[in-house]
Amino acid sequence: MTITKILIANRGEIACRIIRTARKMGIATVAVYSEADASALHVEMADEAVLIGPAPASESYLKVDAILDAAKRTGADAIHPGYGFLSENPDFVEKVEKAGLIFIGPSARAIRAMGLKDAAKALMEKANVPVVPGYHGEAQELVVLAGKANEIGFPVLIKARAGGGGKGMRKVDNQADFPAALSSARREAKASFGDDRVLVEKYVATPRHIEIQVFGDNHGNVVHLFERDCSAQRRHQKVIEEAPAPDMPEDMRAAMGAAAVQAARAIQYSGAGTVEFIVDASDGLKADRFWFMEMNTRLQVEHPVTELITGLDLVEWQLRVAAGEHLPLTQDQLSINGHAVEARIYAEDAEKGFLPAVGRLAHLAFPGGDIRVDAGVRAGDEITPFYDPMIAKVIAHGKTRAEALGKLAGALGRTEIAGTVTNTAFLTRLCRDADFAAGRLDTGLIDRNISSLTERAPAPRTIVALAALAASGMVASHSGKAMSVQSLGPFEIWGAPKRSVKLGINDTERAFVIEREASDSWIIAGDGMPSGGMRLNAVQWSGNDWAFSAGGVTQRCRLVQSGTEVAVFHEGLTYRFGKQQHLRSDDLAAGGDQVVSAMPGIIKQVLVAQGQEVKAGEPMVIMEAMKMEMTLPAPRDGVIADVLVADGVQVTDGVALVTLQAQADAA
Ligand code: ADP
Repeated sequence: MTITKILIANRGEIACRIIRTARKMGIATVAVYSEADASALHVEMADEAVLIGPAPASESYLKVDAILDAAKRTGADAIHPGYGFLSENPDFVEKVEKAGLIFIGPSARAIRAMGLKDAAKALMEKANVPVVPGYHGEAQELVVLAGKANEIGFPVLIKARAGGGGKGMRKVDNQADFPAALSSARREAKASFGDDRVLVEKYVATPRHIEIQVFGDNHGNVVHLFERDCSAQRRHQKVIEEAPAPDMPEDMRAAMGAAAVQAARAIQYSGAGTVEFIVDASDGLKADRFWFMEMNTRLQVEHPVTELITGLDLVEWQLRVAAGEHLPLTQDQLSINGHAVEARIYAEDAEKGFLPAVGRLAHLAFPGGDIRVDAGVRAGDEITPFYDPMIAKVIAHGKTRAEALGKLAGALGRTEIAGTVTNTAFLTRLCRDADFAAGRLDTGLIDRNISSLTERAPAPRTIVALAALAASGMVASHSGKAMSVQSLGPFEIWGAPKRSVKLGINDTERAFVIEREASDSWIIAGDGMPSGGMRLNAVQWSGNDWAFSAGGVTQRCRLVQSGTEVAVFHEGLTYRFGKQQHLRSDDLAAGGDQVVSAMPGIIKQVLVAQGQEVKAGEPMVIMEAMKMEMTLPAPRDGVIADVLVADGVQVTDGVALVTLQAQADAA
């Protein structure tokens, strides 16, 4: 079989990443896209592109017939599913094959065998792969499950058998909490997967998530490409991944590799897969303290760290295997070189409970050098509520773990993103966290250190003053060329020598008055400024690079203005200031009469009815935005005047969802 043209049934960074390898191999590419992605990077990169439907994934990236039709129309030989979407859908695989196309991935049978956590565990038990102790039988009655939990011994973990993405999972510490945890796990499982059946597992102490990359071909060969440690997690979701695992003993690596290969062999696995294990690290890493959790039958988000330590291109391997070739290397030919770490940059507000965000990326600049950046967006693109809000993966390689982590932290600091809030400061802090840096990690590390990892760094006064000056429009350049202080050419005064501006700083509005003192110096007075104002002198200005002096100290930064904000990148941190007309109204609900959507999303459940009495903080509406569920509380005690939305309704941001009777009426 030869593959000359592939269709990529995906979007974003993974679609772009697959296109790069296909191009290198001389294989033509077809992108598919939704209406929301008409000008997306993956569409631009592919040789051909086919529109498959409206923005919601259910009407585009999950539409099997539209995708098969696109493949037929473009004459593709094979379909690469990427990750997510249809990548682990066995019915899709069967349809692809029935249409006479190659599915770049495992067989439908292998996917089915690993599709449900309970059946997969039973299968692995038979194949002598150690599995997490627990109950994964058919019975689902509360009494049975509670009894099993008792036998297993608390703490236990309830897991949706159809689970993924940490959904439908609850840790339970004691018998008394079990019934409530079970019903909430079931509710989430039902809503997310349409299947509310669960299993109960021993909650492993001091858990580390260590997974093994495996690869099989259609000739019975299976190898493993060593481990990745994904213990840096939040809400059971990976944040930073690395390879190899810190302090991994050789005998444990060999045992885990062998177990993973055994797991893959048991289902005649072909292509790229990951066998995930949970490790009890309470007494360091020991070769008999790891247990199978599940197998992901696709390429994983974090595959680049394996690529960097092995020097291989896993997508190339996928394409070769799909074309019927033998695995390019045998187990003895594989080895680990150095250490690699990957951080996932998301549009989310880490300092505000990781609230997912949207927005247009007014500015986007990634570090150069030997840093790998896998991104699916470019400046000007929009992060929409329709898809995963990941902006990019930044991956660093070093001779040692310390070197790789240092490089990653540096690279994150040099990453400039304006137009939306991101988690980069949180990621940088995590790289530098004392426990993490020392390799003392487990899945609870982020939670334990959450306050120091998510502390919002207040903008230095000089940066605030500079942002106010920039927003005032009293400085402009004739050209983007660097000018020295002697030539005052780039600075020009617009209009009056005195102007007032307002900036939104961490959700509060601050007012400033800017006065021109000389052609290159200004006095910025107002909220948070020293009495008498702060004097800023322009030293140099070239494009986004600013150098200015305040109090005799010269500082450099990068500053980008869009219609809605001023973003300042300074010493590895990003400070965002909302412009007056666009101040966020997130906090408008606190103490007020309304509950307002803070971002576009879908109403999952309205929990209150008209006329009902509520207490401040009581949950009123459950909303899902950017794949995250959030509960919106009552802003104060009161009586519901009106419910303005219903379950399943899609809303934009700033929309009133529920109103309370005005306080005077209620009294
Ligand atoms: P999902 O498919 O929803 O991602 P997983 O089974 O892969 O669920 O588990 C996700 C994460 O939950 C793991 O990486 C680990 O941090 C934690 N976890 C899962 N099982 C256990 C367990 N038995 N004990 C402790 N932590 C666990």
